Amino acid sequence: MTDDDQDEWLDYASAGYGGAIDPWEDLVPVDDSEESDEDLEDEDDFEDDTPALRDMEAPPCPAPMGIRHVIRLGACDHCLARIGGRLNEGGVPAKEHGARIRVDAIERDSMLSEISPDYCPFCEDLFDDIQNIVVRILRETEGVEFNTLQMGHHISKELVEEEDYLRKRFGARGAPPLKASFAAAVELALKEKITDIELVKEVPDVMILVDSLTLRVKAEVRPVFLYGRYRKMSREVPQTRWPCRACKGREGGCESCEMTGLQYLHSVQDLVGEPIRKLLEADDTSFHGMGREDIDVRCLGRGRPFVIEVKRPKKRTPDIEGLLTSIAEGAEGLVEVDELRPSTRPEVARIKETKAEKSYRIRFTIEGDPLDQEDAEQRILGLSGVMLEQRTPKRVAHRRSDLVRKRELVSIENVVVEDNEIQFDVRCQTGTYVKEMVHSDDGRTTPSVAEVLERACEVLWLDVLEIHAE
Ligand SMILES: [Zn+2]
Ligand SMILES: [Zn+2]
Repeated sequence: MTDDDQDEWLDYASAGYGGAIDPWEDLVPVDDSEESDEDLEDEDDFEDDTPALRDMEAPPCPAPMGIRHVIRLGACDHCLARIGGRLNEGGVPAKEHGARIRVDAIERDSMLSEISPDYCPFCEDLFDDIQNIVVRILRETEGVEFNTLQMGHHISKELVEEEDYLRKRFGARGAPPLKASFAAAVELALKEKITDIELVKEVPDVMILVDSLTLRVKAEVRPVFLYGRYRKMSREVPQTRWPCRACKGREGGCESCEMTGLQYLHSVQDLVGEPIRKLLEADDTSFHGMGREDIDVRCLGRGRPFVIEVKRPKKRTPDIEGLLTSIAEGAEGLVEVDELRPSTRPEVARIKETKAEKSYRIRFTIEGDPLDQEDAEQRILGLSGVMLEQRTPKRVAHRRSDLVRKRELVSIENVVVEDNEIQFDVRCQTGTYVKEMVHSDDGRTTPSVAEVLERACEVLWLDVLEIHAE
């Protein structure tokens, strides 16, 4: 700025104060009452007026003119309390605090009493819905046992952005944003109805999701997880529920599954899971085993580790002894579980990733004349410690890619040769195809028992003796 410019500016600036020229003389005073009356008479005009108000200059709250402005914008009592920046003496409820701020403002400017806050641009009247939302939360969680609760609120992006603009322009510095304030108000109202819950930020028993636009309230009940080991004493029971091939397990089933919807009436999942599901009043279960055995393979010893996931349970503090008794009664000896303990979702991943060695007992027949016992035993024991090369077996080739895996045959013992039948115990790495290790799968597994005996072998049965984990 040059000195000349500065002089000119000073002339102009002082002109309004007793100078020759009054730059404001063409302005007429604004009649607030007239403007308000018009607004009330004609809603269209009122709406047209809103954008102008929202963009108008006004000092931020808590300046009286700022409070006057947000009242003119239509702020509700809740939002007045939130963005007004006035001290809440006595810590009264937000709505009451906001009403006081309004009364004070009306005392300063009686025109404000004619503005009814029937549509608050700072919250779109969301705070009016709080009791309604609480009722819906109570309805959604009726009969559900829970100690911890987490709330999630969805508020439309448009409202969040508009509120942010208005609050930063006219609200007090540091005023809390809508979402945080709204969440706190819902929590407060909820705690008046349910006293024995803890609101948490993670791993809640129940997660409540509120959509502020539709007022839809959804309760997600965290599953209950239980860890145990099962023994499967039957050769006719699959590990997991197996839908009928003919009807794909549709509701009501079909003739071929005798209306059960199941290919096999029983499964470990249901023999263990159904009693638990019923006692915890849950919707369904998922079964996560540390691997699985074929349907015709028994699983003995300490059993196979598993985690059962009980979905949407109404009860979440199981009586473990009661569960075990109920499983034992329903399983009729097909499946046995000795112990259960509470578990977690991360444990599901852990047991799925555990690579445990396994011991099996296997019995098979050989083609042709019986072999010399001593010779056959030595040949089989000679496989102890070898590295098998196993090309994907024909029986699973339709669902697994064709490749060659190497698996260690850790040890062999207890070889019994009885005429044309031979039996032995073998310990091997996880993922070994044990039946193929005996019959060779037409040479796809090598070496094999069939190869060292130089005889075709046919597997009679197979049992898991032990899963060497934990
Ligand atoms: Zn509001
Ligand atoms: Zn069917």
